[in-house]
Amino acid sequence: MAGASRIETDVIVVGGGGAALAAASGARDAGAEVILLEKHTQLGGSTAWSVGSVTATQTPHQRKAGIVDNPQDHLEDLRKFSAALKLEHRDNFDLGRVLCDHSPAMFEWLLSTGLEFTGPYPEPPHRKPRMHNVLPNSRAFPYLLGRHCRTHGVAIHLNTAAQRLIMDNGRARGVVATAPGGAHREYIARRGVVLAAGDYSGGRELKARFSSELVAEVDAINVTNTGDGIRMGMDTGGTVINGDYIRGPILRFVPPMHTTFEQRLPPLPALTKLLHWGMDHLPERMLRPVLMNFLTTALAPEKSLYEDGAILVDRDGLRFGDERDQPARTAALRPDGLAWMIFDSTVAEKYLQWPHFISTAPSVAYAYLDDYRHSRPDIFHCAHNFAALADSMRLPRAAFETTIADYNAGSASADVPARRERPAIAKPPFYALGPAKAYIIFTNGGLKVTSNLEVVGKQERPIPGLYAAGANGQSGMLLEGHGHHLGWAFVSGRIAGQQAARSGG
Ligand SMILES: Cc1cc2nc3c(=O)[nH]c(=O)nc-3n(C[C@H](O)[C@H](O)[C@H](O)COP(=O)(O)OP(=O)(O)OC[C@H]3O[C@@H](n4cnc5c(N)ncnc54)[C@H](O)[C@@H]3O)c2cc1C
Repeated sequence: MAGASRIETDVIVVGGGGAALAAASGARDAGAEVILLEKHTQLGGSTAWSVGSVTATQTPHQRKAGIVDNPQDHLEDLRKFSAALKLEHRDNFDLGRVLCDHSPAMFEWLLSTGLEFTGPYPEPPHRKPRMHNVLPNSRAFPYLLGRHCRTHGVAIHLNTAAQRLIMDNGRARGVVATAPGGAHREYIARRGVVLAAGDYSGGRELKARFSSELVAEVDAINVTNTGDGIRMGMDTGGTVINGDYIRGPILRFVPPMHTTFEQRLPPLPALTKLLHWGMDHLPERMLRPVLMNFLTTALAPEKSLYEDGAILVDRDGLRFGDERDQPARTAALRPDGLAWMIFDSTVAEKYLQWPHFISTAPSVAYAYLDDYRHSRPDIFHCAHNFAALADSMRLPRAAFETTIADYNAGSASADVPARRERPAIAKPPFYALGPAKAYIIFTNGGLKVTSNLEVVGKQERPIPGLYAAGANGQSGMLLEGHGHHLGWAFVSGRIAGQQAARSGG
């Protein structure tokens, strides 16, 4: 390319999330010189937005809890998740085996970088507790894995977006990227290229192509994931499996706008070890507010709230559908996809303790109404009358009061069903949580890869020098249950990086 500068190395990794950092580290361990390209100004991707659950067996945490477990049982239980959804036929258990077999070593590697986890937590149909949650939140992944990569000699180029692959005689030789300032740069890979640029939850075109126009219009939690790695793989003959299998639209409370003091603390091992000690030794009531202040991700309200009498209104103060029937799909069509959840004291009093929680939440496991009251004052509203509640939410008073009056009177319209057996919103004080927003959480379509993470091209042949990891190399795996997406990002990243480093030139 005329005027483009040129940089040469052994392995190029595209992306800066969990899979990319694992790939860069894996390639470096295998003796390669590595450059990692991240288009954002900071590392993290969806990995840093996640709840931070990683599911693995034979971990020190399981051993400490006296749990005897193994990868074969993990694989059998992974199957049960797809079977429960009647989707076993669409899942890829050959790669599922790779995930389960490598999870123990992957988890040890995460610990070796200084990451700290709580758990293991149970999650049926897993027969044993296997879910581990990172401390203090998922931003610890890019922070500590990025530090690990840098100390081991990986060159990290931020603000550098890979645009297309450089191919030579059917072999991946590198990528053309836009460097900071907009200049094009050629990154030549002597050994291999790893695509680890995340999913297409923020990519309108691919969402429309694989799913629907409705889904294409719904915002992603992580808007930087536009499916660039998947597109680059497809441009060279790769195919996408399960492109329509998308998590969302789902209603989640908007993430905190301002960072707390706790969130600004670097997640250094000294801090996370202290938190871990606190979780083992301090009373829960002392620790909950501290842990909730570390929360950075968007939490989802439980469906049971609607059964118990909560309703949803939009920015205009209007109900917009049956809250118990895919509310996120209808919310996605409302102004900005925003909705507020309204309920009275009867519901509020129920959601103060187990087993009635508002959301599952990292570190504290379950967030109750008082957790929102103390830790999310930006989305917690409480008032003694509906006019004051509308003011607190900044919704139009008159429309909101009419909505509640109609609901309580049992009225219905073409789009909005009557409340029937659900209780009226009658007992003050009245509560609202919101805004919540309809989001695409992640997409599951990934390039078809071999068990060595080579991208499979035309005539079912691996494309020499080209590897894909994490969401880019999901290859039909459904990864149902918590903690398998991150597990796959780290497992596949490590393997892809090592394979790329060993790839012939
Ligand atoms: C709210 C939320 C909660 C979740 N919770 C969990 C959980 O608890 N457990 C679990 O297992 N999974 C969870 N997931 C899913 C999990 O986070 C992802 O599947 C996983 O992080 C994917 O890792 P990745 O490395 O493939 O992609 P990412 O972490 O998304 O990284 C991709 C990176 O590539 C960069 N990039 C994109 N295009 C380019 C380009 N052209 N050039 C250079 N860089 C580029 C992006 O900016 C991004 O940094 C959650 C996801 C979300 C959104």
